[in-house]
Amino acid sequence: MKKQYQCYWCGKPFERYESQTVGKKYVFCSRQCLWSFSSKELNPEKYVCLKDLSAVSQHLSELNRQLNPTRMTAEVRAKIRHSRLGKGNGISYGKLYGRHEHRVMAEKILGRPLKADEVVHHMDFNKRNNAAWNIMIFSSQSDHAKYHAQLNAFFQKGVIPTEIVPEVMPYEVRAT
Ligand SMILES: [Zn+2]
Ligand SMILES: [Zn+2]
Repeated sequence: MKKQYQCYWCGKPFERYESQTVGKKYVFCSRQCLWSFSSKELNPEKYVCLKDLSAVSQHLSELNRQLNPTRMTAEVRAKIRHSRLGKGNGISYGKLYGRHEHRVMAEKILGRPLKADEVVHHMDFNKRNNAAWNIMIFSSQSDHAKYHAQLNAFFQKGVIPTEIVPEVMPYEVRAT
């Protein structure tokens, strides 16, 4: 069900599904408003709060959402859920042994083994934080590097990417 919200930046009222705003501190009517909010020049005061890494990760989820509003359809979601069912959450100790914990965690979330080229990224940049929500998986190191370049451009110059580098694991599922 859609609910009425007020844009945190421009104040304009808009409608959005409640499920899309769960846990969001700030909601925006448009990509432009999100961008303005995130811009150091336009919003020097609140921009500072983005330096808090937990705020950054929350903010990036919102950015992803704004840039790819339709990427996760109910069908895709169901498929992913299904692929995770029956696989069991347990990963044996033997498999854990000698492997990077974040790669093991990524496989747990995906419900399949990671491919050799796939790269695990930590949303809050803390490599020890292997919470499910903090893990992003890119299909290659070059995609991963592209994403880092986008982040840098975004946080340093306010450049909003026209297209976010797709990660293997969609944020909506990470949040569950
Ligand atoms: Zn707005
Ligand atoms: Zn990274």
